Amino acid sequence: MKIAKIEQFFPRRRMRLVKITTDNGLVGWGETTLEGKPMSTIAAVNELAEYLIGKDPLRIEHHWQHIYRSAFFRGGNVLMSALSGIDQALWDISGKYYQVPTYKLLGGAVRDRICVYAHWGISSRDEKSLEQAKIRLEWLQKSGYTAFKSGPSGKWRAHEPPAVVDDFVACANLMREWVGDEIELGFDFHGKMTPALAIEICHQLQPMRPMFVEEPVPQENVDALKQVSDHVIVPVATGERLLSRWEFRKVFETQAAAYIQPDVSHAGGITEVKKIANMAEIYYVHIMPHCAIGPIAFSACLQVDAVVPNFLLQEQIDTGLGNDLFETSWKVENGYIELPTGDGLGFEVDEKMVRQDNRITQDKMNLLGYGLVPSDEELGGEFYHLDGSVADW
Ligand SMILES: [Mg+2]
Repeated sequence: MKIAKIEQFFPRRRMRLVKITTDNGLVGWGETTLEGKPMSTIAAVNELAEYLIGKDPLRIEHHWQHIYRSAFFRGGNVLMSALSGIDQALWDISGKYYQVPTYKLLGGAVRDRICVYAHWGISSRDEKSLEQAKIRLEWLQKSGYTAFKSGPSGKWRAHEPPAVVDDFVACANLMREWVGDEIELGFDFHGKMTPALAIEICHQLQPMRPMFVEEPVPQENVDALKQVSDHVIVPVATGERLLSRWEFRKVFETQAAAYIQPDVSHAGGITEVKKIANMAEIYYVHIMPHCAIGPIAFSACLQVDAVVPNFLLQEQIDTGLGNDLFETSWKVENGYIELPTGDGLGFEVDEKMVRQDNRITQDKMNLLGYGLVPSDEELGGEFYHLDGSVADW
C-alpha cells in the first residue's frame, strides 16, 4: 500500500483539512488549521506531499521523524501544524487498514467515554449580556455539559485599577452562583497578563474554586509560569501554544503546571500528543487537550484521550462536534462523548460539504497558487491599548 494522493480542503473559515488517499483506495483525514495563518500550512503540506507520495502510509513514526528532522530546521508552528494534520490522516488510514478504531492501535482504551467541556461565561453584568449568558447556559446544560470555560475578556495591561479586576471577579462569582458546586469552571487568561497581575487575580478567584486557570502568562517563559504556580492555590494549565515534547520538557521538569493542554493539530499530531501525555504522567500532570478548531482535530483528540490514563478533560467548541462536515455528529450526553467505534478516527466525512470552499474565492487565488488571504480573517487582527501599543488578543 502506497500514498497516492494528497489533497487539501477549506470548507470553513479557520479550517484547513488534508485528505490522504492510498493506491488501494483507503482515505485518511487530518486537520492542519493554524489559526491566524491561513496560507502557511497549505504551502507546508504541499512541500511535504513531495516526500510522502509513493510511501507506505503505515510507517507513521518513520514519516514523523523524517518530516520533523530531515530538513535540518525543526519545529515551528507552521511545520508542526502541517505534520500534525498529516499524522492524523495516517493514523486514520492505519485504523481503516487494520479495521479497528485508531485507539486500539495506540494501546487500547483505558476509559469508555470522554469528558468534555464547553465554552460559556458571563463577560459583563449588563442586562443584555446576562440574558445571553443565561440562554447559552440553559442550552449547554440541556445538552448535558458539566464543565465550562470562560476568561477575562478585553485588553489587560501590566496593572489594572480595582474596578476592572473586581468586575471580572464579580462575573466569575456569579457564574458559580448560577451553576452551583457540582459544575467545573475554568478560566483562560489567554497569556495576556504579567505574573504579578495573574497572581493577584488568581487570589481573587480562589474563593469561587475554579478548576484551573489557563495560560496565566504567555507561553515562552516557563520560569514566569512557575512563579505564578508557586504563589497560587488554583491549578495552573498551559500548553496550547507549546509544540512537541521538547517545548513541554521544562514545564514538567520545573513542575510549573498542574495540567497541560497540547493541541493535536499543532503539537505534532496523535503520535506526539500521546508521547507528551506519557511524559506528563510521571510528573502527575494531567492532560486537557486544547481543541478550538474543527471536528477532525476534535476526533483526533478523542483517540488520544481514550488511551491516556492521565487524561482529565477535553476542550471542544460547538463546531467541533461535526459542523455539518460529518455524516453523524458527535453527541454529548451527561457531559461525556462515548468512545467512537468506527475504524480509524471514527467519522464519515460528508465530502460534498467538505468540497465547498467557504474560505476564499477563486479570483483571490493569486499567491502561492492559492490567493492572498488576510491573516486577520481568523484571529486577533489589529489589537492595541489606548496608548497605541500592541495588546495581546
Ligand atoms: Mg486557551
